[in-house]
Amino acid sequence: MEMSSLRDLFVEELKDLYSAENQIIKALPKMIKTASSRELKAGFEQHLQETKGQVQRLEKIFEGLEESPRGKKCKGMEGLLADGKELMEEDAEPEVMDAGLISAAQHVEHYEIAGYGCVRTYAELLGEKEAVRLLEQTLNEEKATDQKLTQLAQKINIEAEEAA
Ligand code: FE
Ligand code: FE
Repeated sequence: MEMSSLRDLFVEELKDLYSAENQIIKALPKMIKTASSRELKAGFEQHLQETKGQVQRLEKIFEGLEESPRGKKCKGMEGLLADGKELMEEDAEPEVMDAGLISAAQHVEHYEIAGYGCVRTYAELLGEKEAVRLLEQTLNEEKATDQKLTQLAQKINIEAEEAA
């Protein structure tokens, strides 16, 4: 792997995000199934649809850069989703499981916010205006999702505390 410029780093990190988003698309259906709270289920469902759009935005960016989105597996996201999978195998009270799912999802969102924040900044420096615009849209969706999860947690954490 040649990494001689900021553009090389930009493309590598975009590939990581592309892999991360595709892993999330595979993981979310099980999280939707495992969640008990209707609001949490609906939140995950909405974010699954959003995530499909985020993949399309990345594909547009790769097209503009004349680069391939393939060739990397994001190990960071693999690890976060493995932790989530481990949680879902636990025999937990439904409210406690929901609180755990929110935590797992917020770990994912924060990871994405870090990733998109970095590539957005690289795109600005590189003068890739269309990429900046698309990456900012996704960054805003990730931030909004994180805030929505915080809001849901305010109720669900208390229900978890009162469970059992
Ligand atoms: Fe995402
Ligand atoms: Fe996300």
